[in-house]
Amino acid sequence: MTAALSIKNLEKTYDNGFRALKGISFEVQPGDFFALLGPNGAGKSTTIGILCSLVRKTGGEVSIFGIDIDRDFPAAKQMLGVVPQEFNFSQFEKVFDIVCTQGGFYGMPRALAEERTEKYLRKLGLWDKRDSQARMLSGGMKRRLMIARALIHEPRLLILDEPTAGVDIELRRSMWEFLQEINAQGTTIILTTHYLEEAESLCRNIAIIDKGDIIENTSIKSLIKTLSREVFILDCRETL
Ligand code: ADP
Ligand code: MG
Repeated sequence: MTAALSIKNLEKTYDNGFRALKGISFEVQPGDFFALLGPNGAGKSTTIGILCSLVRKTGGEVSIFGIDIDRDFPAAKQMLGVVPQEFNFSQFEKVFDIVCTQGGFYGMPRALAEERTEKYLRKLGLWDKRDSQARMLSGGMKRRLMIARALIHEPRLLILDEPTAGVDIELRRSMWEFLQEINAQGTTIILTTHYLEEAESLCRNIAIIDKGDIIENTSIKSLIKTLSREVFILDCRETL
């Protein structure tokens, strides 16, 4: 079976000489709900930046559903939706336009982009806000806006970079439910997090990254079984 995401010996040395990724490898299978867990500074956002070509890798290979991002990035991009860690839309643009414009980047006809924008703004509870400027939204709504935008081309792989950091527990639960629903419908999901309980309640498989190395790559169930739970929680607590 072709992996949804295959990362081999991925390296990133930033221009200042800092080695953020030291040759990491892992795979995510189609249909999985996968967590990339690690403390601040581990290299999670660097990895995701490379996948969406915001960060230039300095070594290794990445394929998305068998498509090498170096060989055919546009084709890989069609399969991929990314929700970045930082809000990266214009605060003065309207909610509807932020999502709909994204459709244009994927070459979607305007009518289809409008239809999908309505579909995903409704699903994410933002349809009432469609004419508001983004700056009027709460933090949780802005996060949901980025999820709607990432789904406009209905990607097979959705990657979310710390989607629930700073989101209160009630909103976090409703976001979890939404993500579980689209995963059940067949979308492969990868999220980065530093909350162990988030990985545990949502994900099936996990990679733990620390200082640019993958230190564990297994199913959540066997991770919890093999590691002493207390030690693991202590490791992760440092990062909260
Ligand atoms: P995470 O998302 O896991 O918190 P990042 O991938 O953002 O970690 O960062 C990994 C490491 O790379 C950190 O030590 C960070 O300071 C460093 N880093 C990130 N961006 C740059 C950059 N543009 N130049 C130099 N170092 C960077
Ligand atoms: Mg990060």
